[in-house]
Amino acid sequence: MFTSDFDGLILKNEIRGIKIVKEDEQHIYIQAGAGENWHQFVLFCIEHNLAGVENLSLIPGNVGASPMQNIGAYGMEIKDVFHSLEAYHIKDKKLVTFSLNDCEFGYRESVFKKKFKNQFIITSVTYRLNRVPDYHISYGAIGQELEKMGVKDLSIRAISQAVINIRSSKLPDPAVIGNAGSFFKNPEVDSQQFHELTRMFPGIVGYDLPNGNVKLAAGWLIEQCGPFAGTSWKGYRKGDAGCHEKQALVLVNYGNASGSEIYDLSEEILQSVKAKFGVVLEREVNIV
Ligand SMILES: Cc1cc2nc3c(=O)[nH]c(=O)nc-3n(C[C@H](O)[C@H](O)[C@H](O)COP(=O)(O)OP(=O)(O)OC[C@H]3O[C@@H](n4cnc5c(N)ncnc54)[C@H](O)[C@@H]3O)c2cc1C
Repeated sequence: MFTSDFDGLILKNEIRGIKIVKEDEQHIYIQAGAGENWHQFVLFCIEHNLAGVENLSLIPGNVGASPMQNIGAYGMEIKDVFHSLEAYHIKDKKLVTFSLNDCEFGYRESVFKKKFKNQFIITSVTYRLNRVPDYHISYGAIGQELEKMGVKDLSIRAISQAVINIRSSKLPDPAVIGNAGSFFKNPEVDSQQFHELTRMFPGIVGYDLPNGNVKLAAGWLIEQCGPFAGTSWKGYRKGDAGCHEKQALVLVNYGNASGSEIYDLSEEILQSVKAKFGVVLEREVNIV
């Protein structure tokens, strides 16, 4: 997100191409150009019966950006199917290959947002797709949606469609109303802090993590706070900057809000959540 005019060069990556580079008994390795549209890539995989990215359907953006923040949704992340990528080192003017370990993926994190920030242009990504699907339908409302769709035989196509239906019903389409998806990350607290928060706020939403900590639903925290006592940020609008009416985690631009107005609103939200819950939200969106 730009908070002011940018004094620099902006490149739009148009490197195309999707090809099979390797096969074994269980996997097919597909290399995709960084300029391929992510959702079109997902549809390509589904068309060719390649499993592993169906839960990541309809995430806006391109293939080249997918490793940047280890895109994720509905219990899956890009790291689950990532094999390697090629990137151009801007200063050294050479192509470098990154393996899964090299990328140091975390929750909405990678080396490209940290120690290698602004140093590489990703040119292609190779994914390791599964011949036999391992379905993940317990996260969010996927199971309910599949039931609503009347799906009897589970398939990657059905899961993708369920994800598309859910996302289309609750997330604003950036082509219609300006937004960057989730503005904040879901914060992590230790089990003791979660216990105390549950005592004070019995409705608080949290998911247990393998490391013993609890991930809180940032959208729920934001919904419980507002610009004034007794109000909620959900559906709030100040000029053309606002908080989406169906998902408080998404900040929206109704037309002419400047980047700094959106940023200021995000700061007000962050401060109100900190004051009420003692939890500091971190922005998922890159601020330039
Ligand atoms: C409605 C909506 C829903 C969303 N839902 C999700 C979600 O469920 N999960 C999720 O993880 N994200 C989600 N997002 C965020 C967004 O879709 C992802 O971050 C996506 O990867 C952005 O892709 P992009 O091509 O638009 O990248 P941009 O936004 O253009 O770029 C993102 C960053 O990556 C850098 N970058 C992009 N391409 C390259 C490259 N080839 N080489 C080097 N650097 C590069 C840019 O410089 C920038 O810093 C959502 C966004 C919206 C608008």
